[in-house]
Amino acid sequence: MPNIVVVGTQWGDEGKGKYVDLLSDRVHMVVRYGGGHNAGHTVVLGQKKLVLHLIPSGILHRGVQCVIGSGCVVDPEAFLEERAMLQGLGIEVGNNLFLSDRAHLILPYHRRLEAVSEKKLGDRRIGTTCRGIGPAYEDKVARRGIRVGDLRHREALQEKLNYLVAEKNAWIASQGDQPDVDAKQILSMLTGFAETALSHVTDTSRLIHEAIQKGQSVLFEGAQATLLDIDHGTYPYVTSSSATAAGAATGSGVSPKVIDFILGITKAYITRVGAGPLPTEMGGAMGEEIRRRGDEYGASTGRPRRCGWFDSVVVRYANRVNGLDALAITKLDVLDELEEIKICTGYRYRGELVGEFPAELSVLEECVPEYRALPGWQKSTAGITRLADLPTKARHYLESLEALCGVPVEAVSTGPDRDSTLLDMGNGQPALERWFGKSANH
Ligand code: GDP
Repeated sequence: MPNIVVVGTQWGDEGKGKYVDLLSDRVHMVVRYGGGHNAGHTVVLGQKKLVLHLIPSGILHRGVQCVIGSGCVVDPEAFLEERAMLQGLGIEVGNNLFLSDRAHLILPYHRRLEAVSEKKLGDRRIGTTCRGIGPAYEDKVARRGIRVGDLRHREALQEKLNYLVAEKNAWIASQGDQPDVDAKQILSMLTGFAETALSHVTDTSRLIHEAIQKGQSVLFEGAQATLLDIDHGTYPYVTSSSATAAGAATGSGVSPKVIDFILGITKAYITRVGAGPLPTEMGGAMGEEIRRRGDEYGASTGRPRRCGWFDSVVVRYANRVNGLDALAITKLDVLDELEEIKICTGYRYRGELVGEFPAELSVLEECVPEYRALPGWQKSTAGITRLADLPTKARHYLESLEALCGVPVEAVSTGPDRDSTLLDMGNGQPALERWFGKSANH
């Protein structure tokens, strides 16, 4: 059975949650491999809209095992809250949820440190969600993080906490802020967390490995997206983890050799939250219109997203760094009313044509997009599930994206709910069959 990675190809919020939800029915296990509770996947179930920040959306599917992998950082309070929210909705969260003993914990001092340092940066701030995710990853890399498995060793944990809290308080004081982090409070919070969480804690690398050995199918659920990847994104306006497909291996503890298929989730236009260059940004009334029609407000923070035209330089780059097997386009319906739709085909930097996505932000900031303008279809595509029902101009638009990005478009989403999805692009084999083989259901 195939193991699939779902990865965002732009700056996030592509609608990965919907595809993960759609594919979860066909896999045995869903693994989150990076990030924290800043992700915010939105899943629409009938009349209900659910936002899951940390727990994989596979949890909504009976019989699917869900894993929070070692590449994730876990906020104890956020974990318990999300678990309780799901249970409150009557969704089973028991021995179908696993938490890696190697995942790092986000502690209250991480939030405090982030707020102090963003305040200090002023206009140069990253625009993070201030949930302590960045500082938790900093501690991980600096080799002073506290991992989920440490909860099993209370005395050693207490000793480590005392030392770390003194260090954090000294730094906060050095910034002219109140050094108010309390080690005792944190220990007591962690003791409460451990009582519930430890039943979910295991060596998840082994769990995933065993599932794969048994021939079960695993879906690796990417959080954030390619251009937010710590190495390959628009640094420093990035997240702190490996959000590209390769992160699925390191963030779960499996060999890259087990990955069979990489699906790139790609919005029919582009959005970005927070600061940093966005070459095809629309601005003005058009930007407002797309934001309104696409409901482009952060699922985690409610912040308005910046909107832009589809940028094929970005998706070509995403194809290179991820090795995409197919694109799944989302939110085509958001463009329905436009008279003309632009696609960025390349950039011009100081008069020269640039075919590749640049590493330096100063260069990207000066890049002027080159556009191809296509006529809009000006008909509703909302809820369309058959290629034959798609307006010809919408098909042309999709064909242009496919040609410019160099990756086949194998699915198109035409609405937020699970059913509003075109899964047969008329290329001989419906998407789910192609991705999973004939024996798709478990
Ligand atoms: P993710 O983090 O990549 O999962 O993206 P988000 O969940 O933050 O944002 C996607 C939003 O778009 C959610 O509110 C989805 O319900 C919605 N959505 C997904 N696909 C479509 C689509 O094809 N059309 C429309 N109109 N909305 C969609």
